[in-house]
Amino acid sequence: MTIDTLATLHCPGCDTDKAPADFPRNAARPSGIGSWCKRCQADAQADWRRRNPGYMREYNRARRAAGTKGDTRMTNAMLPPTPAAGFPELPDDDRGL
Ligand SMILES: [Zn+2]
Repeated sequence: MTIDTLATLHCPGCDTDKAPADFPRNAARPSGIGSWCKRCQADAQADWRRRNPGYMREYNRARRAAGTKGDTRMTNAMLPPTPAAGFPELPDDDRGL
């Protein structure tokens, strides 16, 4: 059975069953799909960014300094140290909510 055959997936964030299309792709997971729905992941990420304003400031400074021009992809070497607090999954390219 693949993820495509499932009628719904359960999101532990909002404790709701949702369509697979409501979940982000995540190549790092065996299922290829994120465990939280797009809405919950976006909310968690926005919350994390609010609680860690300095990280995004440093991330963007490092990205500009690296001169990646239009390429916004970062290598791990470019990234500032991750704060000790929990770090959410990075968003997929398709963040349509
Ligand atoms: Zn959810």
